[in-house]
Amino acid sequence: MRFYPVFMDLNGRRVHVVGGGEVAARKVDLVAAAGAHVVVVAPQLGEELAARRAAGEIEHIGRDFVATDVQGAALVIAASDDEGLHECISVHCQRLGIPVNVVDNTPLCSVITPAMVDRSPIQIAISSGGVAPVLARRLRAWLEATVPSGYGSLAALAARFRDRVKARFASVDERRKFWERILEGPVADLVYAGREEEAATRLDAEIRRPDAGPPAVGDVALVGAGPGDPDLLTFRALRLMQQADVVLYDRLVSAPVLELCRRDAEKHYVGKQRSQHHLTQERINAELIRLARAGKRVVRLKGGDPFIFGRGGEEIGELMDAGIPFQVVPGVTAAAGCAAYAGIPLTHRDHAQSVQFVTGHLRDGTPDLDWPALARARQTVAVYMGLSGLRTLCEQLVDHGRAPDTPAALVQQGTLPEQRVFVGTLATLPDLVVAHTVQAPTLVIIGEVVSLHRQLQWFRPEEKIEAGEPAEVAVARAS
Ligand code: SAH
Repeated sequence: MRFYPVFMDLNGRRVHVVGGGEVAARKVDLVAAAGAHVVVVAPQLGEELAARRAAGEIEHIGRDFVATDVQGAALVIAASDDEGLHECISVHCQRLGIPVNVVDNTPLCSVITPAMVDRSPIQIAISSGGVAPVLARRLRAWLEATVPSGYGSLAALAARFRDRVKARFASVDERRKFWERILEGPVADLVYAGREEEAATRLDAEIRRPDAGPPAVGDVALVGAGPGDPDLLTFRALRLMQQADVVLYDRLVSAPVLELCRRDAEKHYVGKQRSQHHLTQERINAELIRLARAGKRVVRLKGGDPFIFGRGGEEIGELMDAGIPFQVVPGVTAAAGCAAYAGIPLTHRDHAQSVQFVTGHLRDGTPDLDWPALARARQTVAVYMGLSGLRTLCEQLVDHGRAPDTPAALVQQGTLPEQRVFVGTLATLPDLVVAHTVQAPTLVIIGEVVSLHRQLQWFRPEEKIEAGEPAEVAVARAS
């Protein structure tokens, strides 16, 4: 080990920063956040430090550095652009035993600053000893993404209950087990969801319980799995998927997303058959309740966003009635995912001021929609479940006044490697789609914004199929 890590208490202590520019300002940000009394030595201050001085946040010595400027400092930071000066500061500090940090010059430092992930009171410091700062920063980015942003609040909650837990469990081993269960369980999730008081109530109840076994009631997370590309999951979705005991998933949850669930979790497919829609939904609701009552941590994984054509509202309604703790995690909905990956902005200053999400699902063979409202110009319509009713949909929009040459696209398996985009107009799209084998799921986008696809497409553009091409050519290109 070349450097020994320590955490330094700077609260109320003097930190002298030499330099008044942007680099110095970054350093000042950090030490000020740690509560230091900051003294900046520099003939002039850049914009940011000048603003801090005006706000009374720093002391400024407005001249060139002199040797006595290091006196009384708990830490000196050299952050000017004068290398000769830096060397002199370093020598001086080291002679007096004052810790010194020189930016971008490890050999002159007696202390180096790590890359940091701040989840106060939890802090993670990463260092490559100055040899590979880019690697340290990458590691930092990875940790930023992986460690929940509420980790600090969780630590604060644990601190609040520490003495009580100590009094409740005599042995170190019992305490460790208790905390492990709490810090990975529903209490932690409540904290991450910003429901800190509920978390405290639940933790309190856990401490009072006579036996320290796993909780009697589990919980349910209704999680949006996004449109298919696993990179589009939220951090929270991923965390819950990796903690789950049981995962109930839909037809639309892609295989790569499912792969990311905890390996040992039981995974149940609960995709619906169209004919038994109602019965199955009731069964799913009952199953969620049964599993949670058995103490399981359940993830109900749904394609896209659970509250957009996902029946999420019905599922949590039942959970609420049954008194089961739950949370809802939003996901990237198909319209947003397909539009982004097809290079079709859903709104645009020149083309569309609004966007409507509608379902094209046929009730008794006819889509049950507000046609005059949908046919209005200068708006985009995104149609979920629109494939089987596509012809009726396009005809109705034209009948209600939308121009037959309004651009329209059908995005198949959006965001996935199999994505294909069929581009035509209200007049041509139905025939174009019939001429090819289209794989579900598909999303239809109607409106002038579709014309931007040609210019803005960026994801697997070779798989685009346009009206006017012979079907065989288009298919050959797509395969
Ligand atoms: N809750 C989901 C929608 C469920 S309805 C969401 O927010 O996205 C199911 C419909 O969503 C499908 O019929 C299809 O129209 C659309 N859909 C979902 N994933 C899709 C994808 N990857 N590509 C295209 N359409 C998709």
